[in-house]
Amino acid sequence: MTLLDGREVRKKLLDDLKNKLDKLNRRLGLTVIQIGSSDSSNIYVKQKEKLAIELGYKFNCIKLDDNVREDDVLSLIDELNDDCNVDGILIQLPIPDNLDSRKVLDRISSKKDVDGLTCINAGRLICNKECLIPGTALGIMDIFSYYNIDVSGKHVVIVGRSDLVGKPMFSILSNTNATVTLCHSKTKNLESITSKADILIVAVGVAKLITKDMVKKECVIIDAGINVINGKLCGDVDYDNVVDIASYITPVPYGVGQVTTVELLYNVYRAYELNKKD
Ligand code: NDP
Repeated sequence: MTLLDGREVRKKLLDDLKNKLDKLNRRLGLTVIQIGSSDSSNIYVKQKEKLAIELGYKFNCIKLDDNVREDDVLSLIDELNDDCNVDGILIQLPIPDNLDSRKVLDRISSKKDVDGLTCINAGRLICNKECLIPGTALGIMDIFSYYNIDVSGKHVVIVGRSDLVGKPMFSILSNTNATVTLCHSKTKNLESITSKADILIVAVGVAKLITKDMVKKECVIIDAGINVINGKLCGDVDYDNVVDIASYITPVPYGVGQVTTVELLYNVYRAYELNKKD
């Protein structure tokens, strides 16, 4: 069994990104819009801020009240879309229920949409056209590439169909010639599907959902889940019992989570490149 160490992939990605940033004659700008201030949102924004500052980005977090009017959020996004010092815009999710999250996300210029969540980027990804792609999906592909895991012709089973992980993974893997099955909470007899996977990608948010009997011998396992049990981080895979069957596996922590934020900040550079073409 080979451990897929997210820290190694993170280091390589950071080296690549820093090389690219060194050649620029300006600082890149990332603006995060945070609506409300839940503890988890605060933590995620801080993580982004820390790495953005380390990379020399101009980082700005605009905090808005829970009860902000939708029109005010849309006007703010319009201003940021027009601001040439802002290369990337991100809405920290989730946002309050009184706002239409699809409408708000789609107001972001597709070329500044560093989370890759606008319908334009999701559609372009399906069509295999140049676009911005959610960081977690990019990170998983970079883990495959770092460890020379070829997905072409493999049966990849994805559990979880969120816009952030499962759906973009489905599109990328289809475009890279994998045979892809996408499972979710309404999937019947999940284990009959997961147990046929050459590569299993799990992004659900249910601790230890994937047990030993659900996995084929020599399977490659990517666990994007982040759960906390008794104060300890764990993934969606029952790691201790599955680790001996897998050929490769990402641990939690130190797996996929290590690369996601780097990919997001890499996306700010990619957004800058896209905007430069205009
Ligand atoms: P969402 O809640 O948006 O999506 C969860 C998905 O899992 C849904 O498609 C849901 O199905 C499916 N699901 C729920 N229960 C089951 C079940 N029992 N069997 C099969 N499928 C099920 O979550 P996210 O994609 O945003 O996040 C998933 C996990 O990944 C979380 O733990 C999150 O913290 C983590 N995450 C980690 C990242 C990283 O960098 N490592 C980045 C992003 C997320 P349905 O669509 O039918 O509701």
